[in-house]
Amino acid sequence: MVKICCIGAGYVGGPTMAMIALKCPDIEVVVVDISKPRIAAWNSDDLPIYEPGLDEVVKECKDRNLYFSTEVEKHVAEADIVFVSVNTPTKTRGLGAGKAADLTYWESAARMIADVSKSDKIVVEKSTVPVKTAEAIEKILTHNNNKGISFQILSNPEFLAEGTAMADLDKPDRVLIGGRETPAGQKAVAALKAVYAHWVPEDRIITTNLWSAELSKLAANAFLAQRISSINAMSALCESTGAEVNEVAYAVGKDSRIGPKFLNASVGFGGSCFQKDILNLVYICECNGLLEVAHYWKQVISINDYQKSRFIKRVVSSMFNTVSGKKIAVLGFAFKKDTGDTRETPAIDVCHGLLGDKALLSIYDPQVTEEQIKRDLAMNKFDWDHPQHLQPQSPTAFKQVSVVWDAYEACKDAHGICVITEWDEFKKLDYQKIYDNMQKPAFLFDGRNVLNVEEMRKIGFVVYSIGTPLDS
Ligand code: NAD
Repeated sequence: MVKICCIGAGYVGGPTMAMIALKCPDIEVVVVDISKPRIAAWNSDDLPIYEPGLDEVVKECKDRNLYFSTEVEKHVAEADIVFVSVNTPTKTRGLGAGKAADLTYWESAARMIADVSKSDKIVVEKSTVPVKTAEAIEKILTHNNNKGISFQILSNPEFLAEGTAMADLDKPDRVLIGGRETPAGQKAVAALKAVYAHWVPEDRIITTNLWSAELSKLAANAFLAQRISSINAMSALCESTGAEVNEVAYAVGKDSRIGPKFLNASVGFGGSCFQKDILNLVYICECNGLLEVAHYWKQVISINDYQKSRFIKRVVSSMFNTVSGKKIAVLGFAFKKDTGDTRETPAIDVCHGLLGDKALLSIYDPQVTEEQIKRDLAMNKFDWDHPQHLQPQSPTAFKQVSVVWDAYEACKDAHGICVITEWDEFKKLDYQKIYDNMQKPAFLFDGRNVLNVEEMRKIGFVVYSIGTPLDS
């Protein structure tokens, strides 16, 4: 029986390995992590991440051919294929700080693999890493390798999107495998292909050289984020000219060369990947002397920051230029619907901006806990007007924040509502009831363009929807 071990039981390692276990009953899959609470949660009925369909798959496979363990070295030593799905955040200090990927976790995993291995292994880069990382990993794995072990490194980046991870893994647009062009490299590619071939049609499994696979993941995220920044840049122009961004997006997306997806104007993109991966791309370009290319990609992030700050300014200026002492309901805190993930969510920036103007926030998200929200808001944030200064978040700000478990409760007696996450339940709320229980004039700021502006205006709300000419 082939044995797979995945290092890192996070948003990628957990769901990805659960899908492999489901589709490949002949393969034993062990997901290991240094975090004891995370593994304990995977082994409980309360999984550490919320992802539609994940519970059912884990339930079916756990203790059949899917295991979660903190015995990292033991399971790595026993595995034929080792996936590495550890976090690769942006470096916060030293060379490349603020842009380059921090490969500390990756390097420590690679050194551990080298130390504990007693048999040949295929080592798979599942984490998103800078192009050429495999070269460094090869050096770490083969350095001092006097045990005669063969390590083959493959790049197999993950393209799942949180919120639809299980569906994406079940029917991926493509599976990408990059390997060395040597016979041993190609044998390793064939072995990994055989795993995916259990359920992925052959024409959806793409094989490339290592560097193309590594770079494709960064490129894919950069292109996706670029579309969002492009429509968001248009949304600002729509507001100034009387054009409607939803109509523009529809008309533009009807062009079959462009297509309709990822053209929803919003308060901005979030999540752990887009910004980090673009910064990483920018850094790689700079390291290769490609300053114009670096500048080009940097603008995708600048527009995203601009969009968030534009939203905050719009909220404050609409509410007579101050939100001090006013209750504002924040509907949604996760970076997108159907996930509890709050990494880099625009909600953090919006809340910080409003807290800075002394608003009283009442926050509701169906999947994010109070502890998580307060932890996120406790982090230091940039002041966009003076980006060179870090603004420490005052602990007294927490007196301005309450986290509630009901949207109606959040909106009761509020002066304004900010919709930050596009949860389906926010579309189905009784907005007449909400309006009746609010201070007047009642402001509604739709940061996801999920509500019908005309209907909301008919109820009596003063509405701001991204990319829609202002309510007069
Ligand atoms: P995560 O933070 O949720 O999980 C990473 C896990 O690795 C953590 O639980 C951590 O404890 C563990 N870990 C770190 N070092 C370890 C070590 N030496 N030994 C054992 N465990 C260790 O991160 P994630 O969201 O799953 O992302 C993982 C990688 O996948 C990143 O490179 C990310 O860019 C990439 N990625 C993420 C997504 C996404 O949607 N989250 C999508 C595609 C790719």
